[in-house]
Amino acid sequence: MAKLEIKNLTKSYGKTQVIHGVDMTIESGEFCVFVGPSGCGKSTMLRMIAGLESITEGQVCMDGAVMNHLPASQRDLAMVFQSYALYPHMSVRQNLSFGLENLRMAKPEIQQRVKEAAQMLQIEPLLDRKPGQLSGGQRQRVAIGRTVVREPKIFLFDEPLSNLDAELRVAMRAEIAALHRRLGNTMIYVTHDQVEAMTMADKIAVLRNGQVEQFGAPLDLYNNPANKFVAGFIGTPRMNFLTVDKGIDGKMLLPGGKTLSVPKGWIWTHDQATLGVRAHHLKISDRGELPFIVKAVEQLGGETYVYGRVDDQPITLHLSGQASIGVEEIVHLKLDLKQTHLFAD
Ligand code: ADP
Repeated sequence: MAKLEIKNLTKSYGKTQVIHGVDMTIESGEFCVFVGPSGCGKSTMLRMIAGLESITEGQVCMDGAVMNHLPASQRDLAMVFQSYALYPHMSVRQNLSFGLENLRMAKPEIQQRVKEAAQMLQIEPLLDRKPGQLSGGQRQRVAIGRTVVREPKIFLFDEPLSNLDAELRVAMRAEIAALHRRLGNTMIYVTHDQVEAMTMADKIAVLRNGQVEQFGAPLDLYNNPANKFVAGFIGTPRMNFLTVDKGIDGKMLLPGGKTLSVPKGWIWTHDQATLGVRAHHLKISDRGELPFIVKAVEQLGGETYVYGRVDDQPITLHLSGQASIGVEEIVHLKLDLKQTHLFAD
């Protein structure tokens, strides 16, 4: 276990800056997920922490000690890669023990650690196979096993589930979360998949363009997104966004002509703003403020998704149970102001 502090972390490739002074503290034993769209800098951050990439400016500290100039092998971290990076000519047992032999660890200790890790990850029956004789999920477990035997202070995962099919991804998600509960180590996990982030993390860092947009517990980000980007990125289906206008008396003018009061403390910075509302917070009601034309309906039995438009703006409705509603029908949607978010554009 270890506390990791990132201070003003900056990375440039030539003249191009890709990480812009990130500050973050990951507490000892926390499972922290870096999430964001492709190219936002997640892997670069992780590789700087691992010592696989030089740091242009700023510091990476473990338990208060600056690690910037320590080689990767001396950082007491272990990383699981998306590509597994197993040695194809070695058996699973050799893949697990190889790194420890390089550290000149005593044989009985190596055997003990390999046995424990294999038990924990349920790969004991596979120990004498070669990676080529394993399924994708088994290979990923071996790759995780190789980090477990090293007993590092911090585990780093770089999109470890991207090469697995959807069903296996869900199973491995649960296994990694269980591994974290069992070992209690600090773990940092990189993914572009917000569902992985939501289901596994104690803390999520949402990254965009080399900056942290928000850092916090999954439901804090979901319930109180700091900005429109986080609001749109966290949660499925994506939060609905409606452009609203500043009305004459400072109220908000909704598409369709109705007005609503603004949240306390709201100050208009432009003549327009974005009203965010989650699909399950919209209700169909004769007294609703928003005229909504239905364009498609998905009846899933236990729940219904309704896709349509308010003015020209696309809106998704998530209703629990079954709904008798038809395409091209016009209904009204009721907003609950307490369940909406207003963002300055
Ligand atoms: P992510 O992991 O979020 O997909 P990366 O950390 O891989 O993003 O990349 C962040 C940015 O840095 C991207 O714009 C990428 O093109 C750039 N980048 C990554 N590695 C290099 C490199 N070796 N040389 C130049 N630019 C790079």
